[in-house]
Amino acid sequence: MSAQILDGKALSTKIRAHLKTRVELLKAKGVVPRIEAVVAAQDPASLAYVKMKRAWAEKAGMESGTFDVGPDTHSDAVLEHIWRLNRDERVHGVLIQHPLPKHIDESACLAALGPDKDVDGITPTSLGRLTAGQPGFRCATPMGIMTLLDHYGIECTGKHAVVIGRSVILGKPAALLLLEKNATVTIAHSKTLNLAELVKTADIVLAAVGRAEMVKGNWLKSGCVVIDAGYNKVEGRASDVGDCEFESCAEVASWITPVPGGVGPMTVTSLLQNTVQAAEQTL
Ligand code: NAP
Repeated sequence: MSAQILDGKALSTKIRAHLKTRVELLKAKGVVPRIEAVVAAQDPASLAYVKMKRAWAEKAGMESGTFDVGPDTHSDAVLEHIWRLNRDERVHGVLIQHPLPKHIDESACLAALGPDKDVDGITPTSLGRLTAGQPGFRCATPMGIMTLLDHYGIECTGKHAVVIGRSVILGKPAALLLLEKNATVTIAHSKTLNLAELVKTADIVLAAVGRAEMVKGNWLKSGCVVIDAGYNKVEGRASDVGDCEFESCAEVASWITPVPGGVGPMTVTSLLQNTVQAAEQTL
């Protein structure tokens, strides 16, 4: 292996220690940062993500709560809950954990959330602000990726970044943030032709696909930076794997994020950073 590790676990530990200090300062002024999740608790993966996010928030001294969207919960009840959270001055951040059950209008729920509490940065208003280059909360995963690149001094200006994946929560906003940092960005997706050849031209490869170990080392340009946002369960493997084949990619890249321990912890940390910022903005 020749690549150096972009260690999201270590960086997120450092950032969260600093966050704890900011939380203590807020508490001294009578404000306890609070994040509320809206989640389909019958979905084991969603519940596990939310439990982990709440645990990390509480470790940082914050408060948290959960609204369970069950099979019998009506869309109107979820919307009313979100409106209540919008008005509740004790609540600073709201996380609408995707996916909500199919009978719930998730787009309407996202549109209902006030941008000042959209600490996951995924409502149409927050995404519009990102597109317009206006201040606002940035999507947690792309924000975590940019924090990681910045921390390790990885320059984006003039670099060709290939983002594989165009989801609203990951690929698209990540591409916009890379563009903001003066990268020349290409977005690839399932209909892109000759993907391996395209990736070969990239100085920065961001894989956000959801296909285990799709990107191989022989797709890469020597010395490129590999950001692997994928989390994939593979039968017979003890831990999740990324969208990039780690061993072969690490032979060719100069920097690479591991899975786990790369983008994942940075996502949760970004969510908490945004929540603390939201609380600070109320002072
Ligand atoms: P998604 O909504 O399913 O989007 C996947 C994207 O990949 C789509 O744009 C799709 O293209 C593209 N794609 C699928 N097959 C492809 C192929 N063969 N070649 C090129 N592009 C292809 O997924 P997501 O929510 O963005 O998540 C992507 C991955 O990131 C998943 O593994 C997820 O678990 C992980 N994730 C991690 C974090 C974290 O904190 N680390 C957070 C969120 C997600 P089309 O648009 O053409 O269908």
